[in-house]
Amino acid sequence: MAQHELRDGAPVYGNYINGEWVHTDATFEVRNPANREEIVAHMAVGGPADVTTAVDAAAEAFKTWSRTGALERANILYKAADLLVQRSAEIGRVLTREEGKTIKEGVGEALRAANIMRYYAGETLQPNGDHYPSANPKTMLYSVREPLGVVGLITPWNFPIAIPVWKTAPAIAFGNTVVFKPASAAPVCAMLMAEILEDAGLPKGVVNVVTGPAGGVGNALVDDPRVAAISFTGSGVVGNRIRIKAANRGAKVQLELGGKNPAIVLADADMTQAVQQVVAGAMNSTGQKCTATSRAIVDRRIAAEFTDLLQQRLSTLVVGDPLDEATQMGPLIDDASADRLMKEIAAAKETDAQHVMGGDRPDELAQGAFVTPTLFTNVSSDSRMGQEEYFGPLLGVIPVDDMDEAMDVANSVKYGLSASIFTRDLGKAMRFAREIQAGMVHINSETAGAEYQLPFGGYKGSSSYSREQGKAAVEFYTQTKTVFMDEPLA
Ligand code: NAP
Repeated sequence: MAQHELRDGAPVYGNYINGEWVHTDATFEVRNPANREEIVAHMAVGGPADVTTAVDAAAEAFKTWSRTGALERANILYKAADLLVQRSAEIGRVLTREEGKTIKEGVGEALRAANIMRYYAGETLQPNGDHYPSANPKTMLYSVREPLGVVGLITPWNFPIAIPVWKTAPAIAFGNTVVFKPASAAPVCAMLMAEILEDAGLPKGVVNVVTGPAGGVGNALVDDPRVAAISFTGSGVVGNRIRIKAANRGAKVQLELGGKNPAIVLADADMTQAVQQVVAGAMNSTGQKCTATSRAIVDRRIAAEFTDLLQQRLSTLVVGDPLDEATQMGPLIDDASADRLMKEIAAAKETDAQHVMGGDRPDELAQGAFVTPTLFTNVSSDSRMGQEEYFGPLLGVIPVDDMDEAMDVANSVKYGLSASIFTRDLGKAMRFAREIQAGMVHINSETAGAEYQLPFGGYKGSSSYSREQGKAAVEFYTQTKTVFMDEPLA
């Protein structure tokens, strides 16, 4: 395990390039969003030159790694998964201190990342092509999937270990090498992933991690002509800029973007289940999941009762230090995000929407970026709250007359990541699954929740028509070669 110098009690991380921790003169601080006085780590301020060195290393490593046997690649990932499990309590704690989600969620995310590594270790031994009959009976005709080369990975802060792993594990499992830029707000778990891969025996240069400002590191990674593909998860604004730049230079690109995820609650729903699931979908991880529920589209006949039940449940949520096992909701990622959300709440109070509860920055938690669980009702679908992703603990109830209106409202946004319906009516559930414009569909469960063996991604503005995780990752991280093999004539 790498030893890092401590400054003010916090580790100082260099960039991880070609198996070395490369320090920069300048560093930036990662602070605990639950307690802004606490420095979690000091990170390297990388720049374009560091990206170039990292791509050099990755390009060199690709020559060997792409020819390394599948079993060897698998065994490194299995070993890394074991190490991740061994270090899951420590990683969960770091994750909670850098990102703010509860310790239960932090440790759970580390364990999930280990499972993702195991899944892609197994995938290395799956068939990687097809055999076809040829017009010529003597021709052996087959297709085979091969790695792309150096891939560039750019991730957001809200899943600091799961997203880095769900991009890195398939990338290297299928023989690519990686240059990775984690989000500046929560980059420490990415460094722990690099440490673990090194300890598992990953050769130097196969995975390189460069931290630093998006303008320098991110742009350089997207622009480097040797980077064959970019996998990006984050906001639509940034993602679409990357899409254009990558397309201009002919790089493969994959985008996983935001969401404005609806939960439809019909009059026949199991109310207890619907309330419990909608609250979990809206407030787990402080509402900062791309798949978080932000719109409850509720049959008007039960809207008042449902809103009361939501309010009762939300009032019981324990907000506080996410390292405390009793806490159910931690802070937002930083003060800027909390301030932005507070402005949205203030603006919404000036509209016809009715503020039910929350939307405060509690005095007793003034040391962190806390905003209490917030509920509005009578939200209009075409208002800002009905359309835009706020990325925080805020739920808006939109009353509707019937299933037709519910579907229209659910599909009326630019996003299409995840969606739920709560009903006992099989026909309505099936109609919902058919007609909802979303990549992830839940019947009687919350909008959040992905399983790594399945494709993950969205419709419309939530994605780029590609998918991550499961076997879908093979599509992105490999390209297909078709081979015609004939016998020599003599
Ligand atoms: P973001 O601001 O778009 O940043 C995402 C990443 O892109 C960060 O690493 C950021 O670096 C980098 N970046 C910013 N500008 C760049 C540029 N010009 N070139 C290259 N890289 C650049 O998003 P975020 O605030 O971290 O994450 C929240 C968003 O992610 C939400 O919209 C959420 O819905 C979405 N999300 C989607 C999924 C999904 O799978 N669909 C999953 C999780 C989150 P810096 O940190 O240094 O600025």
